[in-house]
Amino acid sequence: MALSARIAAYEQFILDLDGCVWVGEQGTPGVAEAIDALRASGKRVAFATNDPRRADEDFVTKLWSIGVRASLGDVVTVGAATQYLLHQRHSGRTAFVIGTNSIRRHVADAGLHVLNGTDLASRAEVVVVAGTNSLDHDDLRLAMLALRRGGDLVATSRDPVYPTAEGLAPGTGAIVVAVEYASGATATIVGKPEVGLFETALDRLGEGRTLVVGDRLDADVAAAAAAGLDSALVLTGGTSAEEAAAAVDPRPDLVADSLAALLLEDSPYS
Ligand SMILES: [Mg+2]
Repeated sequence: MALSARIAAYEQFILDLDGCVWVGEQGTPGVAEAIDALRASGKRVAFATNDPRRADEDFVTKLWSIGVRASLGDVVTVGAATQYLLHQRHSGRTAFVIGTNSIRRHVADAGLHVLNGTDLASRAEVVVVAGTNSLDHDDLRLAMLALRRGGDLVATSRDPVYPTAEGLAPGTGAIVVAVEYASGATATIVGKPEVGLFETALDRLGEGRTLVVGDRLDADVAAAAAAGLDSALVLTGGTSAEEAAAAVDPRPDLVADSLAALLLEDSPYS
């Protein structure tokens, strides 16, 4: 299928996953053939997500399950972006981590010494916070003590909630606020709407004119604007056509009914 003329000038694409490439367990309409067409035209693609709970491999598996070819290098999770930032700024230091095993691995892979489970946890030089479904009071206490001793606080996002099959659940931001309130520290945020996730994606993709595609004005479009990148908003997720039309700051460069409708000429999916 032929690519749409309006995206022809872009050499590489950063695609949001939830609400853009898939909704729940289903790919958005026509997404696999649209991404195939993009790659067949020599465009580079990276998938980017603020979700800190699942391992990078899980996103690759899910992409294949909806018919989209992907390897680990194509997926930029907020955990990988946190690793990138930690490696640049805090390599060689000690860390206490609130988050899943996946996040702990990313912190260790960044060259930090993870002190969780040792007597020295409250003396960590860096506290890393990411969303997790298992959190106890001792986590908050150790993070607070480390930060009150002058540690640096890094968090994956301020997302207040995240969707589950049972409805909304408290997100990374809810934990970040508790840690900030107890410690008086302010977190450096890696994920959308800050620029860290997209900077990591650009480090993977290389130089080239880049379009960010996502379903949320306050996350994808805002982060693209902050990173100096063009953006397209798709209406398969968290934003209505009315909200898209009314958007002023940030305003997406392009709006489409779906990712396939954005990418393909004469798309049957609009
Ligand atoms: Mg999204």
